[in-house]
Amino acid sequence: VRNKPDPISIAACVDIGGTKALLGLIDRQGNILAREMFYVNAEYQPATLAVELADRMRSLADQYNLDWKRVCGVGYSTTGMMDVENGIIFTSPNQGGWRDINYGHILEDSFKLPARIEMDANAAALGESWLGVGKKNNPFILLIVGTGIGAGILIDGNILRGWRGTAGEIGHMCIHPDGPPCNCGGRGCLESLASGPAITLQARQLLNEGRVSSLMKPFQSNLLTTPIIFDAARQKDPLALEVIEYCVDALSIGMTNIIHLLNPKMIAIGGGVGLGGADLLLEPIRLAISRRVGPWVDFAGTHIVPAQLGNDAGLYGAAWLVWNHIDQVKIFN
Ligand SMILES: [Zn+2]
Repeated sequence: VRNKPDPISIAACVDIGGTKALLGLIDRQGNILAREMFYVNAEYQPATLAVELADRMRSLADQYNLDWKRVCGVGYSTTGMMDVENGIIFTSPNQGGWRDINYGHILEDSFKLPARIEMDANAAALGESWLGVGKKNNPFILLIVGTGIGAGILIDGNILRGWRGTAGEIGHMCIHPDGPPCNCGGRGCLESLASGPAITLQARQLLNEGRVSSLMKPFQSNLLTTPIIFDAARQKDPLALEVIEYCVDALSIGMTNIIHLLNPKMIAIGGGVGLGGADLLLEPIRLAISRRVGPWVDFAGTHIVPAQLGNDAGLYGAAWLVWNHIDQVKIFN
């Protein structure tokens, strides 16, 4: 059963994170008409989760007096490795037991609507490009700096995927070959130098050397987090500033590599660390890149900006999937 798309159509949008699922009903202009959040865990079986999502989405529509007949498709953003064209999730860190699941079909069964899936960083980049900071910027890169580091890369409005769909792993670009070990098995990857865990690790190492810092107390109470380190840097704590410098150094090398490789019009920085520390990171990053880029780069015309849509970027991207792929409407600019 397919509801016919029309100007008042609604997209049913899901963004699944490590612990939370965001649900949204979004119209073609990009207005979130209704939204809900609920907690998910790794125990969910594929069909159980899909049925729960469909039930919750229908209740959400009822609650906001939205006619379910207006809903014309499902957009689903998640972490993991997947075949987006065929709707297959190979593995997902959020749902540890899932292997080679045709989640597109499972969603279509439970919603009785066409469904599209997308990797979370790509969905967020699509959202930012449709309604956020990325509008009319091509190529556009959303660099997400949080617990890990990832990216969505849009060239002429198309996601850069590579031949097996694994392109864009900017977090595993090697910055310092002798740097700290990374989750991927390598050393000195951008993620091992500038992600949230990398930043707190760097601070802990300096504190272990016995350095004087306002961070010693939270460190000894095992409460050291990136927001606390950022706050200390704002208070000009020398150790915290040194950690920021270390992070800026790694990010600016990585971003210079990206600029040399792809000549983006814009790199937007999102994620908990990227946005939480934007006031500390962005200007120093711009300055460091300006010193590193080759003379052929028009760096003055290259925008390095904070992402705009925050936690909603993935939901907007999921809506864009529905409008672009299911409704066949080219709304990309
Ligand atoms: Zn790595």
